[in-house]
Amino acid sequence: MIPADWKDGEVAVVGLGKSGVAASRLLAREGVRVYASDTEAQSDGSLQQLKTLGVTVETGRHDLKRIAKARAVVASPGVPPDAPPLAAAQKAGIPVVAELDLGLRFLRFDGTQVIAVTGTNGKTTTTALIGHLLRAAGYDAELAGNIGRPVCDVAMGRAPMWVALEVSSFQLHDAPTFDPDIGVLTNLAPDHLDRYKSVEEYYADKALFFRHAHAESIWILNGEDPEVVKLAEGAPGRRRTFAVNRRAEGWYDRAGDRLMLGEAAVIPRGDLKLLGDHNVANALAAALAAAAAGVPRPAIAKGLSTFTALKHRLEPVKEVNGVLWINDSKATNIASTLVGVVAMDRPFVLLLGGRHKGEPYTRLGEALKAGGKCRAVVAYGEAGDIVMKDLKSFVTLERGASFDDVMARARRLAQPGEVVLLSPACSSYDMFKNYEERGATFRRIVESW
Ligand code: ADP
Repeated sequence: MIPADWKDGEVAVVGLGKSGVAASRLLAREGVRVYASDTEAQSDGSLQQLKTLGVTVETGRHDLKRIAKARAVVASPGVPPDAPPLAAAQKAGIPVVAELDLGLRFLRFDGTQVIAVTGTNGKTTTTALIGHLLRAAGYDAELAGNIGRPVCDVAMGRAPMWVALEVSSFQLHDAPTFDPDIGVLTNLAPDHLDRYKSVEEYYADKALFFRHAHAESIWILNGEDPEVVKLAEGAPGRRRTFAVNRRAEGWYDRAGDRLMLGEAAVIPRGDLKLLGDHNVANALAAALAAAAAGVPRPAIAKGLSTFTALKHRLEPVKEVNGVLWINDSKATNIASTLVGVVAMDRPFVLLLGGRHKGEPYTRLGEALKAGGKCRAVVAYGEAGDIVMKDLKSFVTLERGASFDDVMARARRLAQPGEVVLLSPACSSYDMFKNYEERGATFRRIVESW
């Protein structure tokens, strides 16, 4: 599983978050000498533990000269392929391997079956749904990748029968042995253009999802996304498509208001406790993946109806005086906020703002006006003035100051029977540590009422 020559020298691990630490531990266990580095210091005790395993740990910088002499470089999931340490490795002709690829080599050897989920949006939700469906059916399944444990961490323990794995395009870039039994591609939209030079380059990484496709592979594809269909074109294996606006192997019977697998009804729409058509798509993708793994339809139905929204993703928090407060703090770009807004079936007050990401809000303004359900927008944070300017011809606006002030304004604006939706379309870094802290603050305030 580990090339013999890795043991002749040193392997560099780039990034010391959870995944980098897990990769270092796995390599150390295999008797490989490891140099692990990160530009930032990590505060927990895991680095001390690595040192006791003989790993050379460096924080504050990456020693590029040392990395350029390594036998291989293992990349943590968040590190872009053109980051200096990876670029240095590439320039020196040293193989770069994603942490995911390393972990999967061990798991595959132990017979674990892999369901991998990628796409622009919905990866975490779909992966969590798949894990939930498998476990609800009594399968021995683990969640891994961004959403769960690092793959190398799973590989350190007893190998599960199944692993549901969330995969980003960065990880695909350096996953030479990646070969899932079942692969789910949720959708494709231009994203991460801050980190990729072009849309083509981003899609080129996503295409690596199919790099080892073979006749036994099963691909679960969004049948309504032409880019998905195009990307999968020509890849060997069996295909199952899902769709919310037409028939497919997994589809939404809108007239009958139920989720379908082929001709069979799985559950009424109302039994799925997730908001929005996009979540129906995620549920259908997960249902097809579970079915491909052998889960019977009644167990899929039970699993779908017992799944609840993940934190910060259209998560209903509390109803206060007839107003439902929904936390969609994970929506850090316009596309995600659009998805959240479209999912609203009641009139709503939208909390919009944070650190501006560059895209104008006019497209959102047009959608809010056309939808007719947005009663008002409270604009706040660094982006507040731009939001006010871009939206003024579309919706009623208020300018909020502190987050407490934003919440108080929303409370005054919303009427019984309505929703207050935190779906900011911006990053949180102007006022919070991250989107989780923003969502938690929203919850704390609502729960204090
Ligand atoms: P990811 O892990 O790909 O970021 P998540 O499941 O965490 O995806 O969802 C993030 C955001 O993406 C959600 O808040 C929602 O706005 C949007 N989203 C989720 N699923 C879909 C989908 N199937 N299609 C489009 N947008 C989606």
